[in-house]
Amino acid sequence: MFVSSLRAWPWWPRTIQHKVVWAAIAIFLLGLGNVVTLQWLLRRSDNIAATLNLAGKMRMLGQRAALETLAARQDPSGDWLRGYDSQVQTFERAYQTLAQGGSAAGHAPLPPELRPKLADLYASWQRSRQAMQALQAASATPADQAGDMAATMQASAQLLAQTEQLMDAIVVYADTAHRRALWSSLVLFLLDALLLGLGYLLVARHVLRPIEQLGAQCRAMVRRDYSMRAPAAITERQTELGALAQALNQSATHVEKLLQDVALERAALEQVQAMFNGLADNAVASIYMLNVEVELIYANAQMAQLTGYSQRELNERFPMARLFTPQAYEQVCRSVQDRLQGRTRTARYERILLRADGSQVDIEIFGTAMQHQGQPAVIGLIIDISERKRNEASMRRASLVFQHTREALVVTDASGLVLDVNPAFTQVTGYAAPAIMGRRMSIMSSGQHGPEFYEAMWRQLLQTGHWSGDITNRRADGAEFISELTVTASYNPDGSVHSYIGLFTDVTAQRQQQASIWHQAHYDHLTQLPNRQMFQQNLLHCIEQARHSRLPFALVFLDLDFFKEVNDTFGHDQGDELLRQVARRLRGCVRATDLIARLGGDEFTLILPGLQQLDDVYPICRKVLQAIAQPYELTNNTVHISVSMGVTFYPRDGDDGVALLKHADLAMYAAKAKGRNQFAVFEPEMEQAAQSRRLLLRDLEAGLEQREFVLHYQPIVDMHSQRTVKAEALVRWQQPQRGMVQPGEFIDLAEESGLIVPLGDWVFREAAQQLAQWRSMLAADFKLSFNVSPIQLQSNEHRVIDWLVFLQGLGLPGRALTMEITERVLLEADKNTDAKLHNLQAAGMQLALDDFGTGYSSLSYLKRLDIDYIKIDRSFVSHLQAGAQDMVLCQAIIVMAHQLGIKVVAEGVETQAQHDMLLAAGCDYGQGYYYCRPISAQMLTERLQREA
Ligand code: C2E
Ligand code: CA
Ligand code: CA
Repeated sequence: MFVSSLRAWPWWPRTIQHKVVWAAIAIFLLGLGNVVTLQWLLRRSDNIAATLNLAGKMRMLGQRAALETLAARQDPSGDWLRGYDSQVQTFERAYQTLAQGGSAAGHAPLPPELRPKLADLYASWQRSRQAMQALQAASATPADQAGDMAATMQASAQLLAQTEQLMDAIVVYADTAHRRALWSSLVLFLLDALLLGLGYLLVARHVLRPIEQLGAQCRAMVRRDYSMRAPAAITERQTELGALAQALNQSATHVEKLLQDVALERAALEQVQAMFNGLADNAVASIYMLNVEVELIYANAQMAQLTGYSQRELNERFPMARLFTPQAYEQVCRSVQDRLQGRTRTARYERILLRADGSQVDIEIFGTAMQHQGQPAVIGLIIDISERKRNEASMRRASLVFQHTREALVVTDASGLVLDVNPAFTQVTGYAAPAIMGRRMSIMSSGQHGPEFYEAMWRQLLQTGHWSGDITNRRADGAEFISELTVTASYNPDGSVHSYIGLFTDVTAQRQQQASIWHQAHYDHLTQLPNRQMFQQNLLHCIEQARHSRLPFALVFLDLDFFKEVNDTFGHDQGDELLRQVARRLRGCVRATDLIARLGGDEFTLILPGLQQLDDVYPICRKVLQAIAQPYELTNNTVHISVSMGVTFYPRDGDDGVALLKHADLAMYAAKAKGRNQFAVFEPEMEQAAQSRRLLLRDLEAGLEQREFVLHYQPIVDMHSQRTVKAEALVRWQQPQRGMVQPGEFIDLAEESGLIVPLGDWVFREAAQQLAQWRSMLAADFKLSFNVSPIQLQSNEHRVIDWLVFLQGLGLPGRALTMEITERVLLEADKNTDAKLHNLQAAGMQLALDDFGTGYSSLSYLKRLDIDYIKIDRSFVSHLQAGAQDMVLCQAIIVMAHQLGIKVVAEGVETQAQHDMLLAAGCDYGQGYYYCRPISAQMLTERLQREA
């Protein structure tokens, strides 16, 4: 506080110069003080000495005056009192000097403590003087004289004592003063020492130490260490040292910065040098330097490699003219001169360079004018651009392809933004290049594909860099189109995607055609239901699903009953319509997840997946049965059919599609066998039945080979005469292991397997031969009927001409034979069958409609074919009772047949009653156990002989 206010004082020494001045003044004042003090001390001691002297003088004068006065008394002659007055005066003067100081010597008055002694002394003096004066004056009596003398002597003694006392006091005082002076000078000395010490400390602090630090800094700078800085304590001072320290710091900073700059510049220079060296040594580019004469004065190794000349050769003022054709050189020269003469600074152009071996190379030249060793020069680069030229040419070709290819091309960046499209793209999509550029292909999205489609696409693209497939997009006009797209990623050298190239063609028409072909291949054109092929795929798929879900599914095999009949009665168009309606009804019976298929003909399948319980299927089956059994309204007709169904379950009834379908078929077969219009669930026994059928078939084949078949003949009698007028040939199989097998057990199988064709042929030939024998031997007009299966007639292996030739060979007329056909023949008839029947009829053969009443029993058949006989089925005959419905039906059939000119044969007549009733009903012929069982040829021969 005090110091700071002091510092604010204008006279406060700030500079060293001021401080030195102030220090000099202080030292001067100190010296002066010392001198004055010493002087004062000396004067005081002088004063004391003088005082003592004066006191001594006064002692001496007092005594002398008394003595001389005494002496003058004793010796009045003597001139004793001659000096008395001067002595008194001197005494008085001395006293005055002591009492008041002054006089010429500048005597100080007696210190106050001595003054009482002086006063005492002076009083003694006064008394002594009085006594002396009295003595001097008293010339009276000797007594008086003596008294005066004694008084004088006493006064003088008293004076002497008083002076002695004063002198003693003065001596004591002098001693004290001397001692005080000694202390004073000691104190003065200490003060001096203190002040000097303080001065030293200040100098050390403010001058010496800073100088020392600055010195250290200077020494460091001498050692090139410029990092040292004078502390703020110094620099902040407003002294010369502060300024010096600041200057030193600034110089150090400056020098340090300079050094850094120098170091940086040097490093930069080194880097540039290194770069140039690196460039020149390793550059892919050739580096050259030309002088005014257009000669090379520098060429790097690359230049040597490019030109084919050695680097040494090139560096020895190699004329550039050798590197170019004359015209090219002229241009090069002009360009170089332009730069050398300062018209241009840099140049860049392409030329063809002639190499040492005469080959040519495309180059690009860069050159800049510069000064080299005080001379104008050109420095530059030459780059071999033959690769680039080739690339450019290839790019031009690629661009041509891009522009002119018929396939749409689109290039996007890695993020999918369109970079470029070709004209074919615009043609296919309707988007002009500006409309799509910078946008995403997703603007063409049709919404046909879900996000998972695009996710999968991108996943594959990112993984393999490639994707191809069909994608449905939308044209600019909104129309959808299918494109066959291939996307390929193009990569940067670092492996990141540079761009995606999409290539596509519009395959809409193609795909639609393929789809329709596929649809045709997989769907039934009639019912639009999946066909057999599709069914098989679906079945596999369901098996796959059931394996995962562990839920069983049902496969139901459906076969329409009596479909053939409808088809043949009302024509194929109606049959087709019926199938369409069946399909519709089937669709109505099942859930959306169930699968319906038409395997062909009147065969359908149902797949009912995801069953919780197997029983769940049965209500559906019943529903189907009911739905199918409803009447069908066809054009002009109402028809009834039914369906037989076989049910199998996966995995219970088979673990693959083939087994399942086979078992369903077997079950269906069982349903048919049980009387149709029902469903049967597959049972392993059906498999066994099938197995036994397979064995039977094997035996049947062998039997045909081994001629194990024989014909039995059942007489057909005239109802009135009951005479055998004809017979029906019935086949029997004498199987070595099975014994005599009835046709009911193998005809179906023979028909199914096609064996009926050779078998039927054998029957025909055997019967014809037998008949020829009987006609020649017994009865010339005897006739035989034989059974013909529809399969036979349909078969191409069977040829009518062979039969006719055979008959001719036997000399048998056609009319000796009757073919028994069932309604089935007519139902399943095709052109082939009709033609065969007509040809046989034309040869005279007769036709009998067998089992009439069991089938469709349509009169239209009778009209269509020229039927000669109707054979009323045994089922009617066996139930014949008077007045019963069957009787009425029999009568109706007979009447109707007769009206059409058709004879009627009653089958299975077993009793007299039946015979009678049929006879009464007007039936023409009878056949049955009542007349005769089927018998061997031998037995019939005998019978015929008997009747003859
Ligand atoms: P179908 O043509 O109706 O032949 C008549 C069947 O009735 C014969 O049985 C015969 O033995 C039987 N039958 C005749 N009268 C009576 C009777 O009073 N009571 C009973 N209960 N049955 C009687 P079969 O010989 O067993 O033949 C069965 C079927 O096999 C035939 O029925 C025919 O459809 C077929 N069949 C027989 N032979 C041939 C053949 O050579 N070719 C073809 N394609 N089928 C044949
Ligand atoms: Ca028959
Ligand atoms: Ca029959």
